[in-house]
Amino acid sequence: MTLSSASGNAYGTLYVVATPIGNLDDITARALRVLREVALIAAEDTRHSARLLQHFGIDTPLAACHEHNERDQGGRFLARLQAGEDVALISDAGTPLISDPGFHLVRQARAAGVAVVPVPGACALIAALSSAGLPSDRFIFEGFLPAKANARRGRLEEMKEEPRTLIFYEAPHRILESLEDMRSVFGGDRPAVLARELTKTFETLRGAPLDELCGWVAADSNQQRGECVVLVGGWQAPEGEGALSAEALRVLDLLLVEMPVKRAAALAAEITGVRKNLLYQAALERQGDS
Ligand code: SAM
Repeated sequence: MTLSSASGNAYGTLYVVATPIGNLDDITARALRVLREVALIAAEDTRHSARLLQHFGIDTPLAACHEHNERDQGGRFLARLQAGEDVALISDAGTPLISDPGFHLVRQARAAGVAVVPVPGACALIAALSSAGLPSDRFIFEGFLPAKANARRGRLEEMKEEPRTLIFYEAPHRILESLEDMRSVFGGDRPAVLARELTKTFETLRGAPLDELCGWVAADSNQQRGECVVLVGGWQAPEGEGALSAEALRVLDLLLVEMPVKRAAALAAEITGVRKNLLYQAALERQGDS
């Protein structure tokens, strides 16, 4: 085999290869070399990937590895790997395992002592984050929200006071209802970015408070088409007493019933992780109010 084996044993290597998310020029030179040289490509949709491979003049055999057969078929790929053959794993677009199949195969391969090597490239959430202009030092990726409205709102409620930038994938037919739920849970002032059709002809990155973004998407049905990533700025603590979360204030109030201000503030600080001074000030203000 011409590819260097990373396993240190006689097994082949499983390469996890990113493919473009729209613009075919985004394939990397390394991805092309690996796809050309492995014995087999495990693909989410073999017909879809056959077109990609044909475009690049690659004739490596393809075998299906999708969410419905991944667990059962893992053994088939493992047998090839353990026989010393290299296998590449690809999904329809972007990085495998990122809201795409591959997790079970990668886990099975690692458990069997097969080397798993990433061949990085396009990934919609990273492409979106890199150009959105929202804080990118800390972020969380939530994948797809639940399709049912109640479950979706429940999930969003859990993130209401999340200070890191939030990143979601969303289907075009649900983009408006999801944005509206985000507005009602996070508030219309929360900054957000809709990143649509990245790397493609109609690529659009629109940043605005959720109120404005909802209005814009509702008024233009073109914005409800294609593939999209939604990014929402993290929760920012307001100044003064408002800086305390509802949960911190609830804890403080409970303790104030039982003990003096100073002790209640100290204990509440220990329980919630909020600064003691902030809680002490809030406790004084609350006592002043009563
Ligand atoms: N594995 C892919 C990756 O690395 O980004 C994601 C696959 S997931 C099944 C598909 C979702 O990714 C789409 O519904 C959309 O939310 C997002 N996505 C993929 N390509 C995109 C693009 N070109 N522009 C915006 N979002 C995209």
